[in-house]
Amino acid sequence: MSRTEEFELIIVGGGPAGLCAAMYAGRGMLKTALLERGVPGGELLNTEWIDDYPGFEHVLGRELAQKMTAHALVFGAELRQENVESIVRREGGVFEVATTGGTTYEAPAVILTAGGTPTKLDVPGEHEYAGRGVSYCAVCDGAFFKGDTIAVVGGGDAAVEEADYLTRYAEKVYVIHRRDEFRASRILQERLFANPKIEVIWNKQVRELGGGPAGLESLLLEDTVTGDAQSLKATGCFIFIGFRPNTGLIKQHVAHDASGYVITDDRMMTSIPGLFAAGDLRVQLTRQVTTAVGDATTAAIAVEKFLKDRQAGVPGAKVGV
Ligand code: NAP
Repeated sequence: MSRTEEFELIIVGGGPAGLCAAMYAGRGMLKTALLERGVPGGELLNTEWIDDYPGFEHVLGRELAQKMTAHALVFGAELRQENVESIVRREGGVFEVATTGGTTYEAPAVILTAGGTPTKLDVPGEHEYAGRGVSYCAVCDGAFFKGDTIAVVGGGDAAVEEADYLTRYAEKVYVIHRRDEFRASRILQERLFANPKIEVIWNKQVRELGGGPAGLESLLLEDTVTGDAQSLKATGCFIFIGFRPNTGLIKQHVAHDASGYVITDDRMMTSIPGLFAAGDLRVQLTRQVTTAVGDATTAAIAVEKFLKDRQAGVPGAKVGV
């Protein structure tokens, strides 16, 4: 049965950005709903250890997620388990956030914190060893591979740049690419080729990831030209074969860059008045837990001001546009 609920703010996505925005919005006395389809925590739940979140030298990703979730609700924000299917801004400035469960949430402001999805290799062992050797984030997990031999998969800017970054920890980094040339920019390639810790393995696809109770141990590679198979020992496998921001929920045109990341102003407002964005789906230099919560703080406080201006009929709030 369909029904409608009204709020002052709807937050879509329960990763670190969404949880932080909910905390600030609740603290700002806004009637807030945080909609998350699964367990709150976002990418924190795919990361075993976090050691770059201030105040937590070494914390389990899932533990930080639980603490952030509890904190998000302390000031009154409501957490709803909902799968959002569309966000539409009506004429007059109220958003309709429709969910697959049949409830439509309405509010004059929305913060989209739905993150992005790293493209998966889709091979046996990838899911099993995620967080135990398999990673999609060098800055998050690189420090756990000090002195190890690891592999990086991909041939774009992300793979080539992150392989170079990972050599500050790993003793040896194999870059595995399915063709015999990179698509990465030349300057990044030059840096990679000049790095003595890196060895490129051309024309290979990863077919399987294997390991034991302690985590990843090896990769099964297949030659894309000859079809020959080989095994490669590695305790880490960093996969950088593309990343897609989760912006498909917005049913109207929103300004974005060539890769689909949403463009915001310095208050995190998108090109749609009242629609704010925070975290991984936003255009920015880097995507960390700390940057996500920073964005979210700005967005939640900006929403408070936006709603006040809207009530007062201030033209900047673009009421009714
Ligand atoms: P990308 O440019 O799309 O490159 C993806 C790479 O992964 C390609 O080399 C592709 O191989 C390979 N790949 C795709 N699917 C694969 C599969 N199933 N198995 C094995 N390999 C696969 O993605 P990206 O590197 O994440 O970059 C995304 C965007 O962000 C780009 O616009 C990039 O310029 C930008 N970026 C910029 C910087 C920087 O400037 N410092 C850093 C990171 C990202 P093929 O080449 O054979 O297709």
